Amino acid sequence: MSVGTEIDSTCWVASDTDGNSWFQPVFKTLLASPDAATAIPDHVSLRNVHVRIGQALYQVDMQGHPFAKSFLSRPDMCQEILGHWLACRLTPDNQAKWIQLAIANMFPTKALLYKWGKESCPNCAHCNVAETYGHLQSRCTLLEKPRTAAHHLIWRELLIQLKAASARGKDEVEDMDEDITSPQGWRFPAAISTLQHREVSVGQILVDLNFFGSLDAVKHSFRLFAQSYTDSLRQTADSLLSGLTLPAQSLDDERSLNLLEAMLKHSTLKLNLGTLVPKSDQELQAMADSFVDLRPDGHAIHDHKKIVSLLEFTRAMDTDDDWEARKDQEKRVRYAPALAFFDQLPNKDGWSMRQSNFTVGVRGSLSTHGASKTFFGYPKLKSFVQELAGLGITQKAAVKRICKTVVIKTLEVHGAMIRSYYAVKFNALSNLNFEKSFKDPHLIQRILL
Ligand SMILES: [Zn+2]
Repeated sequence: MSVGTEIDSTCWVASDTDGNSWFQPVFKTLLASPDAATAIPDHVSLRNVHVRIGQALYQVDMQGHPFAKSFLSRPDMCQEILGHWLACRLTPDNQAKWIQLAIANMFPTKALLYKWGKESCPNCAHCNVAETYGHLQSRCTLLEKPRTAAHHLIWRELLIQLKAASARGKDEVEDMDEDITSPQGWRFPAAISTLQHREVSVGQILVDLNFFGSLDAVKHSFRLFAQSYTDSLRQTADSLLSGLTLPAQSLDDERSLNLLEAMLKHSTLKLNLGTLVPKSDQELQAMADSFVDLRPDGHAIHDHKKIVSLLEFTRAMDTDDDWEARKDQEKRVRYAPALAFFDQLPNKDGWSMRQSNFTVGVRGSLSTHGASKTFFGYPKLKSFVQELAGLGITQKAAVKRICKTVVIKTLEVHGAMIRSYYAVKFNALSNLNFEKSFKDPHLIQRILL
């Protein structure tokens, strides 16, 4: 085997003939066949987070199936809900059309129109990078506000559903801010009726649960802990760094760099001119401040079992087969210092901290597989439905209702994102009013305040 050996048009295998470089720089993302994957030595797995093995990619497949069919054939992704939504007469025509274009990879962004010879430039006029569908959904800086609103709207819906599912038997929940404990023992102490940014920080959670007397005490303790935490990261950080080409130009390198920087954020090291160097005293103080201020989207507490679960919700681009695993990894890297810090507390008294990552795809993908999935180079991935089970929600009807509500909200928000995109495209920046793009402008006004 050698680097770039082609098995067929979508599969390559790589070799480690020179020991170090598994990849030609151009082959940062590599799809390996399952056979070849068994030959990949362990030490490669962390450095080359981009090796993908035999997954069904979202692309025109070997049989020549178009994108739409390839997307809709993904198993365990709630796509029957998408089907019902498309067929429902209450679904606005333009919203259905936009989703259909998106799943067929035909949404008329500038990059696509340029490819078809209908635009003179493929770039986003504002960001000056290719205006792809992924750009407008996940990265365009002009659409940051509607993107935040989209995230909050779906998360709010999910949190209402979590509370309601936990409170069944107590009729409807009257006040969503009320801190009630579910029959399964979970409570969700987060405000959702107003939805102004009121997420509780990790530091505050630790103080509220009486593990520390003040936020300053948490900071002090974290600074003492940071060195041993950094030691535990060192090998991973070194190996991520060795696989990087800097300055990062490809999307792959950019992702690895972001991952490395997120990892270093709450360590005693920083990246300087391509090497890892110690942080200054001032930077260590900033590190402790930022640790205490880490804000998950919400948290859940099980008083009897003594568990705190940090809840994260992400709306992500669902193109690659590993889209959900990648987001999961990002969230884990972000909260790893909190979990590790909690784990070594001398006074934790049987308590443990974990995290639940809920991810939906911008085109309504929501995972329901029953057993954790393995994606090479990522931590084991739990599905959305498995994360629900972790919070005591296993009753079939409740699970089904939550999935349906969240997917439909996601599809509705997709429409709002596209309307916002057109608002940016055809209005002067000074006249922009994103609230009009959404169904519930009053709520959006409060969210974006
Ligand atoms: Zn842009």
